[in-house]
Amino acid sequence: MPDAIELNLNTAPPPSQTADKGHILADDVSIVFGNGPGAHVAVDKASLDVKPGEFVCILGPSGCGKSTLLNAVAGYVNPTVGSVSLDGEPIVKPGPDRGMVFQQYSLFPWKTVRENVAFGPRLAGHSNIEATRTANTFLAMVGLTAFADRYPEELSGGMKQRVGIARALGNYPSVILMDEPFGALDAQTRAMMQESLLALWSKFNNTVLFVTHDVDEAVFLADRVVVMSASPGRIIADIQVDLERPRDFEIVTDPRFVEIKKHCVEVIRAETLKAFEQQSKG
Ligand code: ADP
Repeated sequence: MPDAIELNLNTAPPPSQTADKGHILADDVSIVFGNGPGAHVAVDKASLDVKPGEFVCILGPSGCGKSTLLNAVAGYVNPTVGSVSLDGEPIVKPGPDRGMVFQQYSLFPWKTVRENVAFGPRLAGHSNIEATRTANTFLAMVGLTAFADRYPEELSGGMKQRVGIARALGNYPSVILMDEPFGALDAQTRAMMQESLLALWSKFNNTVLFVTHDVDEAVFLADRVVVMSASPGRIIADIQVDLERPRDFEIVTDPRFVEIKKHCVEVIRAETLKAFEQQSKG
């Protein structure tokens, strides 16, 4: 059974100093792994302009370079060609201005839930007391106060991911980078997590860059869906999602939702057919 999600958004701290921050610019980015005959182009000439507070999903088939592009914004990977910047500053390494949430929760198993969330603020130089206070606030917000002294292994997948989100928000980043964060969850928990994420985002209004291969997830969450082609990953479409917010799951039956979804699927299908044709020509 999925765990019921009770967010306490009225316990949320004030949305910090991040207003108008979080402008991501990727300019003609290519990322090549290896060199010589074994070189692999993971991202091919991708340009992306994400405005502060925008929620953008990167959609594409497995292996098309979505995570690599996200990792370039995170600062884990440097572009081979082109550049990525945040608020006009070139991104060269990870930083507390970008919170990361992965599919594999990547919590420290030896730390309690509270210690996991307090880790970022501690690293940023806050005292133990301050970091604990921040952790308590964010855990209350994601409805996990009762689990603060537990260890990650004692939590369900959905709960672990709420800890992951609390941890990412705990540094007050201007940008949240999410790499298939709900990919390991069952369908119901996943749907609840998507709604919760939108509720949290409406409170903090960080810029969100969210990687997924699920068309429904992308259209449900995003202001814009950026579609990538199969390898080598190019951006082949940038689709506006003009659906009102707040959104709940009823929206998936709205004809406008269905229409946008159809558009995404058609773009992906046309690209896949093109790739097949090229392969068959040898
Ligand atoms: P996606 O997120 O769309 O599934 P990835 O960005 O993870 O795709 O990977 C894109 C391609 O780049 C894949 O073929 C993958 O094997 C390759 N790749 C990713 N990271 C590395 C790396 N560190 N070294 C070599 N190849 C990599």
